[in-house]
Formats: sequence, C-alpha cells, structure tokens
Amino acid sequence: DINQVIRNVAESFGGTCIDKKIAIELVLTDEKMLVNADMSKIQQVLYNLVDNAIKFSHKDSSVKIETTEKHSKVFVSVKDSGIGIPKEDQKLIFDRFYKSDASRGKDKKGTGLGLAIVKEIIKAHEENINVISTAGVGTEFIFSLAKAKAMDEEDE
Ligand code: ATP
Ligand code: MG
Repeated sequence: DINQVIRNVAESFGGTCIDKKIAIELVLTDEKMLVNADMSKIQQVLYNLVDNAIKFSHKDSSVKIETTEKHSKVFVSVKDSGIGIPKEDQKLIFDRFYKSDASRGKDKKGTGLGLAIVKEIIKAHEENINVISTAGVGTEFIFSLAKAKAMDEEDE
C-alpha cells in the first residue's frame, strides 16, 4: 500500500519539519493503493525526495505528496515551493555527486547521491521519474509504479 508508506515517511520527518516550520501535506485516498514494488526501496525513494524537498525549501512553506491512479499505473508526486532547479541543471541532477550551485552553500549538506539512488531504484522497477521545476518557484518530482492486480484478476 503506497499510501501507507507515504504516511510513514512523512511521519519520520516530523521533527525536521517543526524546526524549519514546513508542513507536509498529504493528498491520499483513504483506500489502500496497492502497487507491485519493493516497498523498502520505494520508501528510500520517498525518503530521498522528501529530504530534498525540505532541504531546498524556505521556512514556513509546505511540501505536498500526492498519489493518483491512471490506467494500470499509480503516480506519486512530491512537490515543494522551494528554490527550484535551473533548466540547465535539470538533466544533471540524477547524476552521481551532482549538486547545483545553489545547493553548495554551507547549510546545504549532502553528497549528491540521493537522486542517483532514486533513479536507479525506479529504473530497476522499469518505471520512470520526471522533474518539473522553475528556479525560484519550486520543484515537483513525479514517479510511476505498477498497480498491483486485484486478487480475482490474477492468473489471467
Ligand atoms: P544527498 O542526497 O546525497 O544528501 P543532495 O541532496 O545534494 O545530497 P541529490 O539528492 O542527488 O543530492 O540532489 C542533487 C541536486 O539536485 C541537489 O544538490 C540540488 O542541487 C538539486 N535538487 C534536488 N532536489 C531538489 C529540490 N527539491 N529543490 C531544489 N533543488 C533540488
Ligand atoms: Mg538528496
């Protein structure tokens, strides 16, 4: 259930969010959203995306996590209204050790590996991750997962 994994990850950031006064807003259905995936790996993906969203956001802002279903896929969006990523950097951020200029400040810790790991995990699931970002406005990462077939549809 991807919705439950998201709730757990959001909860694990509770303390950091209070320090920076960032609210994590969850837009999830009450029903379970079952996906075919290695849930500990997907938890790691979410952890890295939310970690970035908080790290690159200003105080007193919010991070929104939303799930939507379309055909046989579930789409997970992690959206912030932080510093954004300049267009020319957007294709580089998934590379190992890449950090944009804006994120090399002393308060922006990290080795630049988070998104490389994210990309690797999503690729291993034969799924996709995309970034939509405007410098100075904010960033949204969206990745897909395969919906789990309902029990009665199995063996078809
Ligand atoms: P690590 O994840 O290893 O702690 P990191 O967060 O710097 O370090 P990545 O998660 O791989 O590394 O992200 C790479 C770079 O992409 C970041 O340094 C930053 O420049 C940019 N980036 C990633 N997510 C965001 C975001 N939500 N908003 C703005 N910039 C981002
Ligand atoms: Mg990171």
